[in-house]
Amino acid sequence: MNPIARLIKKQEEEFWKQSSPEELWRRILTGQEPQLVWGRHFFKHIPTDPRCKLCNAPFQGIGAPLMRLIGKGKSKLNPRFCQSCLDVSPVGGAEIELSMVFADVRGSTALAEKMDPMEFSRLIDRFYSTATKLFIQTDGLIDRLIGDQVIVLYLPGLAGPNHAAIAIESAKELLRATGHARPEGPWIRVGAGVHTGRAFVGKVGQEGVTDFTVLGDAPNVAARLSSSAQAGEILVSEAAVAAAHIVADSLGMRTLALKGRREAMKVWVERIAPIVDSPGRATPE
Ligand SMILES: [Zn+2]
Repeated sequence: MNPIARLIKKQEEEFWKQSSPEELWRRILTGQEPQLVWGRHFFKHIPTDPRCKLCNAPFQGIGAPLMRLIGKGKSKLNPRFCQSCLDVSPVGGAEIELSMVFADVRGSTALAEKMDPMEFSRLIDRFYSTATKLFIQTDGLIDRLIGDQVIVLYLPGLAGPNHAAIAIESAKELLRATGHARPEGPWIRVGAGVHTGRAFVGKVGQEGVTDFTVLGDAPNVAARLSSSAQAGEILVSEAAVAAAHIVADSLGMRTLALKGRREAMKVWVERIAPIVDSPGRATPE
């Protein structure tokens, strides 16, 4: 190991000795350890994807050799993280309030049947890369890109105190980026759910299978909102609307009976659709 990487590793080891892992994770996840935020802002401008999903250190392109030099090469435990983010930090995390965006491709089973496999995989890849770019720019933590679903976490420690408003805006941006506002329609049909709530966020697993994840009821709610959304729709929970301090009058309201829940849930519906002239509207001379 080179001297710079050794120095950084030593500093990180010292950091984790200061207090209990839970207390240190809480500080990182809630934004009381600003180094991580600076790092993410700095690293996201260095080419190229793929990157460490926590600190944005690039694993390819011109930035990659530099990252390896400072101990931010790909982790052997999980190649979606760098060594310094995943290997040095202890297993653990903290229960914090966060916002989540879940987005699902609508009708992907039918699409897969209709298209040839190569064509279908190119379409899903385009969806992943559109979503990745957008969510990294808005300081989301991409938790999963699986099948036809994207899961993004907006943590106060990475996205700041306005995480709920940013999550809602980013979901709208994803629907615009997939063409839901275009008159010719979207190039892929997507529905999304946004929820704000308390959940456990942290590093789970054991040697060799470590991952960074979110656990609890809140991610289940976000997943169900997303699966209930139609193409072009974002279902936003009341908790997310309240946390975002937005006036929800402009949004439609819907009551949803969510699977596995006794009480129906009130959700706000944001639709991204082409603007059409309403009949009877005065036309300029
Ligand atoms: Zn990292």
